[in-house]
Amino acid sequence: MPWCETCAKFWNPTSMPPDGTCPTCGAQIGDPPDTSVPWHFWLLVAGLVIYLGWRYLQGIQWLMGEGMAWLAALIVAATVGATAWWAARRFRRSV
Ligand SMILES: [Zn+2]
Repeated sequence: MPWCETCAKFWNPTSMPPDGTCPTCGAQIGDPPDTSVPWHFWLLVAGLVIYLGWRYLQGIQWLMGEGMAWLAALIVAATVGATAWWAARRFRRSV
């Protein structure tokens, strides 16, 4: 718990600015809090992407089996379009 000598006050790390300074007087009172995303979050995201990707393929396969290939094609086209739109936006922002 960071303590500010000037203000005689304890500060919660989450209520401090990200650079570790006192919100009132600006003195350096602590290390910048670690705001990086933990590795198990990305493990969860990877698992979710794999699971939802598998369910997506199952759904497409099911639609084909039910004789609704046109709907499967429409969903695949929408997915490809949305992915291309997202990739184009992402590429434009990073340049
Ligand atoms: Zn202070």
